[in-house]
Amino acid sequence: MKPDELIELRREIHLHPELAGAERRTAALVADALREAGLDVRKGVGGHGVVAILDAGDGLAIGYRADMDAVAGPTGAGHLCGHDVHTAIGVGVARALARQPTSGRAVFFFQPAEETCEGARAMIDDGALDLVPLQEVYALHSAPLPAGTFAVAPEFGQPGQDIFRIEGLSPEEARRFESLIAGLSTVTPPTSHDERARLLEDMQTPDGPLASFVYAQVHRESGAVQGWVRAWPDSRYEELRALLHSQAGPRVRFIEHLPATINSPEHALTGARHLNATLLHAAYPFNGEDFAWFLDRVPGAMFFFGVGEQGMPHAPDFTVDESAIGLGVDAMTGFLRTRSERPTLSPHA
Ligand SMILES: [Zn+2]
Repeated sequence: MKPDELIELRREIHLHPELAGAERRTAALVADALREAGLDVRKGVGGHGVVAILDAGDGLAIGYRADMDAVAGPTGAGHLCGHDVHTAIGVGVARALARQPTSGRAVFFFQPAEETCEGARAMIDDGALDLVPLQEVYALHSAPLPAGTFAVAPEFGQPGQDIFRIEGLSPEEARRFESLIAGLSTVTPPTSHDERARLLEDMQTPDGPLASFVYAQVHRESGAVQGWVRAWPDSRYEELRALLHSQAGPRVRFIEHLPATINSPEHALTGARHLNATLLHAAYPFNGEDFAWFLDRVPGAMFFFGVGEQGMPHAPDFTVDESAIGLGVDAMTGFLRTRSERPTLSPHA
């Protein structure tokens, strides 16, 4: 597909944003575009997930994942996290590789329900990773960097998350816990260009201000609070759980823990060289990624991908420079090609 056609596909998805678990239309567009290009396509994997296999015979098997769902915003669903761009790039890469296949197999995962951190696990539980045993898996995520540029954090990535509820609270206690939880944050999301530049600088500093952080969000209801805490390194969760237990006793209930998204150092560095990516030395504190479940099973990396230096993903001023789409397709197609033509980096299980 030409860049213009992929921009059209992105606009089509953008105009019909579908929330986590409801990606029926987006999945159908993806499946049609991939079938048309000759890939072996399965729909309905872990909800509206699509798996497409490009089989070019013996050789390595490389995975590539794109997420499809929109964000629930104050005015309804919207693609405020760039998943429409990720999907368009994923389709572009799959079709480019299908046109000129190299050796081995490439497996494309179009994942639903990333925003609720459910889709990756649902696809894996539904056998997405059992169809073809993969040697490596990659993904990208939109970031406020110059359009078409990359950044990656070997050994880091994005924090995991604890989700918990504290129930049986008086209104006064609920207010107290709300401020206690909000007060755990050691970082605040950047809102201006200068703050974004400082964050990027901090992420490039080894053992810098982001070597350890907590980012906490809280929602107060009548008689209860729900909290979401992201922390780095993982050892900080123990400390935070102990604090909540000491304050709330048995009224705190931990609902879920999402693991951190950790890029394999070798794969991230190999990608960085190919993609000319900026090297980061800290995790991005403000979002988690359920690509963590893929990286838990297969080594690989998630790259931050510049879609223009506007707002951060999930911010109301998040916008996309669509020229990034063609650049992303070319870069990732080239990278996956080099990966499938090379021997494996190391004997991973
Ligand atoms: Zn996202």
